[in-house]
Amino acid sequence: MKKIVLFVLALCLCFNVFGVAFAEETAENDIVLNDGTPWVDYCLRENIAQVEEKPDSPRDDFYLWVNYDWLKSAEIAPGDYVTDSFTDVGNEVTDQCLEVLTDTMLKSEDAALAQYLYNAYLDWDARDALGLAPLQKVIDRISAVSTLDKLTQMLSDREYDGGTLFEADVMDNLSAPDTWITDIKPMGLLLQDSAEYRERTEVGDLFEAGIRAFFPRMLERLGYSPEEADGMLTRTFALEAELADGILTGAEEMAPDYVQRVNNQMSRAEAETFCSALPWVEILDGLGYAGAQGYQVEQPAYLQKLDEIYREDRLEDLKAELIINTVCKLWLFLDRESHDLYYEMFNCLNGIEGFPQEENEACDAVRSKLPKQMAVAFFEKFNPAKMKTDITRLCSEIIDCYRKMLSEEDWLSEETRAKAIEKLDQMHVITVCPEKWPDYSGLSFEGLGYYDCIREINRYKARISESLVDQPKDPDFWYFTLDSEVINDILTANAVYFPDINTMIILRGILGDALYREDMSDEELCGAIGMIIAHEISHAFDPTGAQFDATGRMNNWWTEADGAAFAERTQKLIDYYNGITAFNGLQVSGESVQGEAVADLGSVKCMLRLLEEKKEHVDYRAFFESFAKAWRNLIVWEVEYYSLTGDAHPPHHIRVNTVVQQFPQFYETYGITEGDGMWLKPEDRVPVW
Ligand SMILES: [Zn+2]
Repeated sequence: MKKIVLFVLALCLCFNVFGVAFAEETAENDIVLNDGTPWVDYCLRENIAQVEEKPDSPRDDFYLWVNYDWLKSAEIAPGDYVTDSFTDVGNEVTDQCLEVLTDTMLKSEDAALAQYLYNAYLDWDARDALGLAPLQKVIDRISAVSTLDKLTQMLSDREYDGGTLFEADVMDNLSAPDTWITDIKPMGLLLQDSAEYRERTEVGDLFEAGIRAFFPRMLERLGYSPEEADGMLTRTFALEAELADGILTGAEEMAPDYVQRVNNQMSRAEAETFCSALPWVEILDGLGYAGAQGYQVEQPAYLQKLDEIYREDRLEDLKAELIINTVCKLWLFLDRESHDLYYEMFNCLNGIEGFPQEENEACDAVRSKLPKQMAVAFFEKFNPAKMKTDITRLCSEIIDCYRKMLSEEDWLSEETRAKAIEKLDQMHVITVCPEKWPDYSGLSFEGLGYYDCIREINRYKARISESLVDQPKDPDFWYFTLDSEVINDILTANAVYFPDINTMIILRGILGDALYREDMSDEELCGAIGMIIAHEISHAFDPTGAQFDATGRMNNWWTEADGAAFAERTQKLIDYYNGITAFNGLQVSGESVQGEAVADLGSVKCMLRLLEEKKEHVDYRAFFESFAKAWRNLIVWEVEYYSLTGDAHPPHHIRVNTVVQQFPQFYETYGITEGDGMWLKPEDRVPVW
């Protein structure tokens, strides 16, 4: 249910192996970057390089005017594709994590595990000595499969480390928010978006070219000839093209009806007869989900497609897919040569130059594989108590203000307004760090190298997941502490609202200097972390969140007339965003960004109301400029380009300019009038809340 997670960040692309992609050759060609309308995208390095002087007024492009000096001097770090407030905050936390990982005075078992994994990551002598052996072992096992029955046996074996044909985990039950359920979803595709297998775009072509350039080098290291490697990729692309027919596209995943489309519950009896050839329930039983009473099958059409293909005469196709998936899954846990090849590919596909510092990579690996242990060790060194108290207080202040804001929404009937306020009042808010942690007792790495540590962790996580199947949910349990590969860890610069449990989480990782400091003025605070908190609250009332009630159940709590009015307001916003060109003739998709845009607008409205309530003289300049600074961003064009189709967040300059131009206080503060680039006629403004 990755779409359920509604991050505030502009870039929360789900990078699996390949991330976002463009081959190098197009980067230099005829790209006209500066034809954005109504604003040029000065988040792009190529564009800001062309500006010689700071604009003398904020009237035409507020984002550029506020951030000019920063944009001119900012540099994207080696191995990265972006720099912004969130990377600043992230770097601050990474430095603190590195202190934790090298502090021999820390005594907890969690710190010991995190430090062990960190050192194992950096022990290249041991990793090189093992070479590709662990991967080779799994590939040999797949290659040796001679019948469909043997394939089923392998996929049902908990000791099997390789790729799979569908993914299973415990997740929030969309029909019963107070319980966990075994959730089934399609495996990831090489081209990421199923739409690429139906109607190929330039992105897909470049992705495929990149994969074909790098992947065979890894396969050849495993003993395949260049022809065999090429044949295996061709087979895999062809098989994925068939399967892609059963998988929702990236655009469909960003649409508000996505949550309804993936809410498919099946009893065990229904599941057992759902497929004729694919024994998916048997496979799940083998993997430890034997007690499951029911399943949430996110995309039943995918299982049906897989069922058609799960045949003896397609065995070689299925094996090719599994081998490719296995390489993807294990690539980064192997030797130096594998590591370097991976990053060479990743950089080429993403327009990245240079490599991150190895210590930072090792730190990221620990955070990703041991999010609970890393966080516990972090809090052992950096006590979160005061920050938790302060942020919790700020959240309740903002919620109080939001309540007043909702009660003043005169386009809603009393009945719907009451339901909205009830939802707000029942929102579960957790900040900084959880009260409870998952139990990893007994996890030990003694004597293990990096690869075997990862295996051991995976076994533990599987055990914890199994123990949750069909169990009641503890609202204080953070999934973040269990698996940061699905979502981020606590130390990531992010915040999130989960509509299906009506819960907002403000992660410790977002509370760094660029967004939150104790010495900030009220206006600065509201323009930075305050705006982020209010943005997450607004997700409860965006077109996706609005489908869930106070308990997190998918349930229409709107009167018919109010629902229609909400849809009409949202449509006006969609139309406005659809009219914006980001750069190079590429338009923003109003449909895809509607949820984020509604949240951005609701949040600034709430922050202005809070300030006006609190202060006799609001320093509006300080507020709007703090807001614009929070979204400052310098990015490589490849990633900005891809984000336009693959990310639900608008580019940052649009996030700033379209939002501020909705508010009369902005026009009054800066004297913006008709004819200015920032002017939007009052009747064309698109407030939803
Ligand atoms: Zn958001």
